[in-house]
Amino acid sequence: MVALSMEVQKLKNYVDGKWMNVNKSKAVINPATGMEIVQVPLSDSDTVNAAVRAAGKAQKKWALVPAPQRAEVLYRVGYLMKERKERLSQLLTMENGKVIEEARGEVQEGIDMAFYMAGEGRRLFGQTTPTELKDKFAMSQRSPVGIVGIITPWNFPIAIATWKSFPAIVAGNAVIWKPATETPIMAFELAKIFEEAGLPDGVMNVIFGSGLVVGEAMVHHDDIRVISFTGSNDTGRNIASACGKQLKKVSLEMGGKNAVIVMDDADLDLAAMGILWSAFGTSGQRCTACSRVIVHEKVKQALEERLLAAMANLSVGNGLDESIKIGPIINQAAIDKIKKYIKIGKEEGAKLLAGGFELTNEHHQKGYYFAPTLFTDATPNMRIAQEEIFGPVVSIITVNSFEEAIEVNNGVTYGLSSSIFTSDVNRVFKAQRDLDTGIIYVNAGTTGAEIHLPFGGTKGTGNGHRDSGVQALDVFTEWKAIYVDYSGKLQRAQIDVES
Ligand code: NDP
Repeated sequence: MVALSMEVQKLKNYVDGKWMNVNKSKAVINPATGMEIVQVPLSDSDTVNAAVRAAGKAQKKWALVPAPQRAEVLYRVGYLMKERKERLSQLLTMENGKVIEEARGEVQEGIDMAFYMAGEGRRLFGQTTPTELKDKFAMSQRSPVGIVGIITPWNFPIAIATWKSFPAIVAGNAVIWKPATETPIMAFELAKIFEEAGLPDGVMNVIFGSGLVVGEAMVHHDDIRVISFTGSNDTGRNIASACGKQLKKVSLEMGGKNAVIVMDDADLDLAAMGILWSAFGTSGQRCTACSRVIVHEKVKQALEERLLAAMANLSVGNGLDESIKIGPIINQAAIDKIKKYIKIGKEEGAKLLAGGFELTNEHHQKGYYFAPTLFTDATPNMRIAQEEIFGPVVSIITVNSFEEAIEVNNGVTYGLSSSIFTSDVNRVFKAQRDLDTGIIYVNAGTTGAEIHLPFGGTKGTGNGHRDSGVQALDVFTEWKAIYVDYSGKLQRAQIDVES
C-alpha cells in the first residue's frame, strides 16, 4: 500500500508556494475500512484573504507569460501525473472508496485534461472578422478573468479539479481551490505536482476547510471574480444567489436523475451491461449515474431477468482489492440518505427486486457499504424516480412507446445525462433531438464522458456553463472585441458605411 508524500499525518495548505500548517483539523476516514488515514486542516477565512492577496500579485505576472509557456507547466503536470498514476490511484481509492480500476480511470482523466489544456496554450482561439468599414480590422480575443475560485466535491476528487483548474491556469488566471474536506489527499498530491512542475508561487493555492467557512469566504470575496462549483443542488443555488448579488460569474454543475431508455428493438444483453456499469459504478455516486431505467413493456421482464442475473455477480468490498466490483459509500450520512429513499420507494409502492439494505458483515469491516438495489414498477412521479439518491439504487419505469419514453426521461427537474438502447436509426436521431439533457449516449450507459467535449446539463443541473471541452475556457476568460482602424481618419460605425 502506498504512503502519503512527506510521511504526513496532517495535510498542509499550499498558499503562495508555501506549505502552511493549520492548528485545527479533523480526521479523514477511509470509507472502506472506517479507519483514519490523515488529518485535514480546517482553515479560517483569514487564510482565504491571504491566498487572494498572493494570487492577485501572482496573476498579474502569470497573465504576461506567453500562453505556450504557461502550457509547458501543464505538460509537466501531465507527465508527473502519468509517472505517479498508480500511487495517485491507490490514494484516491483510499480516500474516496471507488474501486481501483475506476480510480485509475479518474486519474487518467486528469492526465488527459493536462495534455488537452496544454494544447490550448497554442490555440486559445479568438476570431478575426471583416468589418463594415474600409481599412479597418476586427478581432476578438480571450483574456483571463483574474482570480478564480474552485469548489469541488468528494466523488471525483482529482478529475473535477483538473477540469476546472487546468483551463483556468492555461488562460492566465490564478486559482484558489477548496477541495471537499471528505477527500483532501488528491488536492494535496496535485498541489505537490504543481510545485514540482514549476508553477510560479501564488498561481495555484489549495486551502483545506469546510464549505461553510472557506467556501463561503471565497464566494463572498470581492476579488475572486469567478466561482466554479460542482456539488449538491442546495449548495449550488446558495452560491449562485450570493454570486448574483455581487455580479460574480458562477459556473454550477449539480447532478442529475439520469435515465437509460431500453426500447423493444434493443440488444438486451448490451443494455443490461450498460445499466449495470452506469448505475453501480462508483457505487452510484456519480452525477451522471443511471438511477432510472425506462423500459418498453414488451422487453421489461427479459431485461429484469438479465439485470438480476448480472447483479448476483457484483462483489462489494474494499476497492483496493482488484476483484471487487463495487466499493463503499462515502460516509454514514450518505448511507442514511440511501436508506431513507429505500423506505420512501417501498411506501410509494415500488417493488424491491434486489438489495435495499446496508452491508455490515465482517468482510466489510467498519466501512460503509450498501447492496446494489433494483426497484421495479416505479412510476415517473415517485420520489425515487425524481430525486437524486446518490447511491447504488436504480428504479425501473415501464412505458408503451418511444414518445412516452422521451417524455418520462424529460419529466425531471435535472438534465445532465441520458441514454437510449435501440437498433432503429430513426429513433436514434429523434432521441438526439428530443432528449433534453446536456449529454446523450446511444447504445451505451449514462456515464463515460471524455474530456474534450463539454460536460454539464440543462435545467436544475446547472446554469448554462460547461466544464471541460474548449467550452470550459468560456468560464475562465472574458472576451475582448478589438477594432483597429488604419484608414487615418475618423470612421463612424453604422454611419460612414458606403452603400
Ligand atoms: P455539497 O454541495 O455540500 O459539497 C460540495 C462542495 O461544496 C464541498 O467542497 C463542500 O465543502 C462545499 N460547500 C458546502 N457548503 C458550502 C457553502 N455554503 N459555500 C461554499 N461551498 C460549500 O455536497 P455534499 O458533499 O454534502 O453531498 C450532498 C449531496 O450532493 C449528495 O448526496 C449528492 O446528491 C450531491 N452531490 C452531487 C455531486 C455532483 O457531482 N453533482 C457531487 C457531490 C454531491 P465541504 O464538504 O468540505 O464542507
